[in-house]
Amino acid sequence: MSGCVEFKKLLLHICCGPCALWPLERLLEEGVDLSLFFYNPNIHPQVEWERRLDNAIRVADHYRVPLIVQGSSSEQEWQKRANDGDERCSYCYRVRFSHVAELAGAQGFDAISTTLLVSPWQKRDRILQEGQRVAAGRGIAFLPYDWREGYRKGQAMARDLGLYRQKYCGCVISLGESSFRESITKDHQELTRRREGSAGLT
Ligand code: SF4
Repeated sequence: MSGCVEFKKLLLHICCGPCALWPLERLLEEGVDLSLFFYNPNIHPQVEWERRLDNAIRVADHYRVPLIVQGSSSEQEWQKRANDGDERCSYCYRVRFSHVAELAGAQGFDAISTTLLVSPWQKRDRILQEGQRVAAGRGIAFLPYDWREGYRKGQAMARDLGLYRQKYCGCVISLGESSFRESITKDHQELTRRREGSAGLT
């Protein structure tokens, strides 16, 4: 269901493991030739970025699809946009999709899309606007999938696989606005402590 756009190879931006499950079920059933690309500098803090990456790796392994990883957590650009409302999200989509489109063009993919399109919590209109604009600039297609009807099924699959399911979108602002921020922050502190401990830093 790609809006009847002809394409050969899809580079699919993966925002996290749970959101990727339903799109991958659908795309692999359709026989789409695809690779995943984890590029999410919006995710704050670094320990959360690592946790979501771990999940993305598990999902890629589960479906045996290639996964490309670039970047790391970058708080400052999102912090600067604390008062920009929905414009901050447009910026966030633009930064990520620009990078996805650039890599796609360089590596012979002729279409891109994103697992964010499974989430009813994301700003679909802005995703499509930013995705189509950056893809057009590279002469490739942005595929406007609508996987939202499978969101709950994907979350249930994530639960069955034992994947971590986050309670905030990703950036430092969304963490601050989450009603779960205290427990999430404690979680981050504990994760950081454990990682430092296993790296012999304590
Ligand atoms: S709320 Fe989500 S989409 Fe919007 S800027 Fe933050 S991480 Fe990006």
